[in-house]
Amino acid sequence: MEKYIDAFITAFTGNLQWTWQSILFKVAWYNNYFWGLIAISLFVWMLEMVFPWRKEQSVFRKDFWLDGFYMFFNFFIFSIAISGFYKFSGLLFNDIGISAKSLTIIDLSALPIWSQLFIFFIVLDFVQWFTHVLLHKYSFLWNFHQVHHSVKEMGFAVHLRYLWMENIFYKPLKTIGIMTLGGFEPEQAFIVHFAAIAIGHFNHANIKITWGPLKYLINNPVMHLYHHSYVLPKGKYGVNFGISLSLWDYIFGTNYIPEDNGTIELGYPGDEKMPKGFFRQLVYGFRKSN
Ligand SMILES: [Zn+2]
Ligand SMILES: [Zn+2]
Repeated sequence: MEKYIDAFITAFTGNLQWTWQSILFKVAWYNNYFWGLIAISLFVWMLEMVFPWRKEQSVFRKDFWLDGFYMFFNFFIFSIAISGFYKFSGLLFNDIGISAKSLTIIDLSALPIWSQLFIFFIVLDFVQWFTHVLLHKYSFLWNFHQVHHSVKEMGFAVHLRYLWMENIFYKPLKTIGIMTLGGFEPEQAFIVHFAAIAIGHFNHANIKITWGPLKYLINNPVMHLYHHSYVLPKGKYGVNFGISLSLWDYIFGTNYIPEDNGTIELGYPGDEKMPKGFFRQLVYGFRKSN
């Protein structure tokens, strides 16, 4: 038991220190998610100001500061808080004989690093797409995902406006996905993580970009705006579930972009019941469903 408590404390304090070192510029730039997140946010925000899609939308749109707070809360405060638990359960699985190697399907170690990163990106994105579908399909999960969909005006920071429980829902499939990739040393994984942050920011930004013919591969603001549409096509529980890639929606027929003027109503039926403040939203998913 002591070993578990030790691992818990080491992971927690290690993570806390790492974030603090990042703030002080004491880690390599490519591993500095704190300033990296700020740099990407400022870049996309600047593009929103210069090339706004919905021109009447304020630069400080509705919930701008709330979503900005979510961004730092989810990325740093929550991840420090949970790191001990993740370490603890990793150790537990290891001790009952489930190790990172036991689920290996593809051994990546012989491949060049770029293809390793590429496969890592694709696998991680697919399992997240699938998890996202589940968040919409099952009402118990949808209760938690509603915070992300309660936004009424779209901007880059909506990307990380979501309840902390979502991290926990995404975790199992992400872990299994990574476990299928043997021989992958995620040291260069920062490239994938930064690419995912940038694409996610763009998906929510008030900028009209579709990436041209690449729209069938890469998710984009026009496609994702329809994911946030108040009105869904009849009989569907959601459309355009893509995270970084739009490909999965085209493959599984969940794509839907009827037009692209950017002015559709956002939200979901019942979104008026969503509390306005951060702390009340934090526990909102745990209420009895109605
Ligand atoms: Zn969603
Ligand atoms: Zn979204």
